[in-house]
Amino acid sequence: MRRIRWVLLAFNLALIAAAAQLASAQQSQAQFEVIRSGQFPERVIRSVTDATAASLRYLAAIEISLQGTFRIVLYDSADSFKNALVERGLRGPWWPIGQPFPGSFHLDMTRMRETDIPWFVSHELFHVAQFQLLGITGETHVNHPRNRALSPFMMEGTAEVFKLKTLEQMGITRYSAEARRLIGVARTIQTDCRTDPTVSYTRWYDLINRCGSRPIYDQAVVMFAYLFDNHGGWPKVIQYLSVDNPPDANARFATAYGMTLEAFAGEFSAFLGR
Ligand SMILES: [Zn+2]
Repeated sequence: MRRIRWVLLAFNLALIAAAAQLASAQQSQAQFEVIRSGQFPERVIRSVTDATAASLRYLAAIEISLQGTFRIVLYDSADSFKNALVERGLRGPWWPIGQPFPGSFHLDMTRMRETDIPWFVSHELFHVAQFQLLGITGETHVNHPRNRALSPFMMEGTAEVFKLKTLEQMGITRYSAEARRLIGVARTIQTDCRTDPTVSYTRWYDLINRCGSRPIYDQAVVMFAYLFDNHGGWPKVIQYLSVDNPPDANARFATAYGMTLEAFAGEFSAFLGR
């Protein structure tokens, strides 16, 4: 009788092990579908698909697995893109080229060259991963209370560095060279367009309206790349995004990095020599 119990136990353990293996195989196979709002050449769809596959490979390499199926929606008209965003609660006057939501991202294909596709796909895909780690679900995330406890420099900086590292894997650009180049760019940005790690979302959008998005995103890359290279890489980012319900952006940052946003702003500003 005892012997049969042991055999059964061994059999059950084998089943559990097989199930666990199946689960991990499924986790590394994130699913996506490309939805076309308009007409696109087949090579555009292939470029989107290839960039998505490369992004998912790099995402798996840093041990983030996307659950379920996410959607990539492509628009061949700026108006239909804007309308889709307005329906989900976004307002201008500044319109992005790519917009992520939990489980999907939308791309205004009228505003990018074909060679830009991997740059936008990898950036927006990381936002989808961010939402999953943050526990933000549903199509309208913009007014989610948890968004108040986020730093735009972290949200955009992590997406930008993820993008550069994915592009490096694709043989398109080199992260370290690009990060070095952007340090130079950040040093020349005019005073009233400068941002720092403590910036709020209100201030962030104000700066973009005033100075354009590129100088502001470039600064986010430089600030976050410095944090990434000197304070724990992806494991710290995952920890930052996984902090459960912090009261504010500073608490989320301090829980993961063991210092306040202000302390980091000081350290970064000393590094940049401002
Ligand atoms: Zn972004």
